Amino acid sequence: MKPRPGEYVPDSTEGITRVEDLPKPLLGKRSRRHRRRPCPCCGRSCYRDGLGHRTLHALGCLLRDRPRLLLVAYSRHYCPSCKRYFGADLSDLAPPGSHYTQRVISLANAPVGSLMSQLKTLSEGAPAGEGEGQGEAAGG
Ligand SMILES: [Zn+2]
Repeated sequence: MKPRPGEYVPDSTEGITRVEDLPKPLLGKRSRRHRRRPCPCCGRSCYRDGLGHRTLHALGCLLRDRPRLLLVAYSRHYCPSCKRYFGADLSDLAPPGSHYTQRVISLANAPVGSLMSQLKTLSEGAPAGEGEGQGEAAGG
């Protein structure tokens, strides 16, 4: 099996030879399964024909430097009018054709200043601004 671009594979040139030595990607799961979906071409409501899977790269834990993968299960539909298959809409998770989630892209496109503040918010998770100034000395 040939690894796809962006897939997490061990790189022996980095000095790590065992897969176990790499930080394991965090896995998340999303589901976009529908019975019927409108055809993107003609708008006809089409029944589910099967299921597909897609792996998206999401923002992982920034502090622990772990990649995060989002496994998306989605329904595939067949339009008998257009004689074509199409998948359920995943555009709320990622733009069509992209392997990155909207959140990753918005971070990547953000100006550096706002990027840093977003990273700070994500990694801290709590409002800052406490513990300034008053240091009590326990001496005696
Ligand atoms: Zn159609």
